[in-house]
Amino acid sequence: MTPPRVCVTGGGGYIASWLVKLLLSRGYAVHATVRDPCDPKNAHLTQLDGAAEGLRLFKADVLDRAALAAAVKGCEGVFHVASPVPADKIVDPQSEVMEPAVKGTLNILEVCSSMKVQKVVVVSSTSAVHFNPNWPQGKPKDESCWSDKKVCIENELWYCVAKTVAEETALEYAEKNGLNVVTVCPCIVFGPQLQPVVNTSSELLVYVIKGGPNAMNDRLWHIVDVRDVADALLLLYEKPESSGRYISAPNYINTKAILELLKKAYPNYNYVKCKDNADQNSPITPISSEKLKNQGWKPRALEETLLDSVEYYRKTGILQDVEGEGQACRLPDLFQFFHAAEE
Ligand code: NAP
Repeated sequence: MTPPRVCVTGGGGYIASWLVKLLLSRGYAVHATVRDPCDPKNAHLTQLDGAAEGLRLFKADVLDRAALAAAVKGCEGVFHVASPVPADKIVDPQSEVMEPAVKGTLNILEVCSSMKVQKVVVVSSTSAVHFNPNWPQGKPKDESCWSDKKVCIENELWYCVAKTVAEETALEYAEKNGLNVVTVCPCIVFGPQLQPVVNTSSELLVYVIKGGPNAMNDRLWHIVDVRDVADALLLLYEKPESSGRYISAPNYINTKAILELLKKAYPNYNYVKCKDNADQNSPITPISSEKLKNQGWKPRALEETLLDSVEYYRKTGILQDVEGEGQACRLPDLFQFFHAAEE
C-alpha cells in the first residue's frame, strides 16, 4: 500500500522537527520544506528514524509559490508550520514578520487549493488569542477570543499582529474557497529539541535557568510540550470532524512556581531574579484547551516538560557559560514583557 503523503513547511524548525519525526514513525511519507537543505542546522532531519525511506527535503521560502507547489505536489495533507519567531528586536515588521507570516500562509493555501489538498493544519499561536482587553474579566479565554490588532500595533507587538492576521487570513480563505483548514494556537512551547540551534522559546527557558541582567515579573505563563504540540497537529489532521481553531495551552504556572520547581531539581544554576509582587496587569490570563482535549488530546504534566528540557540543555552543554560570549544569555525580545520594570 502507498503510504499517505503530507508536506510540512519549515521542517527543520523546533516544532516541525518533532512533527516530521512523529509522521515518519506513523508511516507517513513526508515532504519537508527548508530554506536551505545544505545548512547543517537541517541535518538532523535526515538522521530521523525512517527518513531514508520516508522523507524528502524541498528547498522553499514561503514567499516562493513555485517552490511551495513543488513540495506540495502529490501530498494529500499539509502542515503549515513555517513562520518567523524572531529573537531579536523587530526593526522592519513588514518584511521580518508580516510578509512571511501572512503572505506565506496565503501562498501555501492557494497552492493547496490548486493541488486539491484534502486538509491543511496551520500553526498559529496564543499570541493571536491573548491580547484582547475586551474579554470579560475572570472568564477563561477560549477559541472565540482574538487578539485585538489595534492594541498589538499600539504596543508594537509585531509578532502578535503577524500571527493574528495570518490566522484570520487562513480561516477566511478556507471559508471562501472551501478548503479544509484547521488552525492550532500553542502557548509557549518548551521541551527537548531535535534541531541543533536553540530556537526562540527554548532561549526563554535557558534565560530563566542561567539568569541574566534583569529581573522578571511574577506573572502567569502558559506552557505546552513540543511533543504534545506535534501530537495535537497530527490528531487534528487525522480527525475528520476537526474544524476551526484549537488552543493548545494545557498548563499554567507563575514565574515563582517555575523557579521553585526547577530549583528543587537543579539547585546549582543562577536562575533569573523574580519580583515579589504578582503582576496584576498582565494580559496573559487563564485560557482553555477543552476543545482540543475533547478531540482526545492528552498532554503531559508540566513538570515532565520542564525537567526534560533542562536535561536536554545539560546534555548538550547549552547551560554552560561560553567565555567571551557577552550575548550568551539574553531574554529574546519577543518575551520582553516578562521583564520587571526597573525601580
Ligand atoms: P523555529 O524553530 O524558529 O521555526 C520556525 C521555522 O519557520 C523555521 O524552520 C524557519 O526556517 C521557518 N521560516 C521562517 N521564515 C521563513 C520563510 N520566509 N520561508 C520559509 N520558512 C521560514 O520556531 P518554532 O517555535 O518551531 O515555530 C514554529 C511555528 O510555531 C511558528 O509558526 C510559530 O509562530 C509557532 N509557535 C511557536 C511557539 C513557541 O513557543 N515555540 C508558540 C506558538 C506558536 P529557517 O530555519 O530557514 O529560518
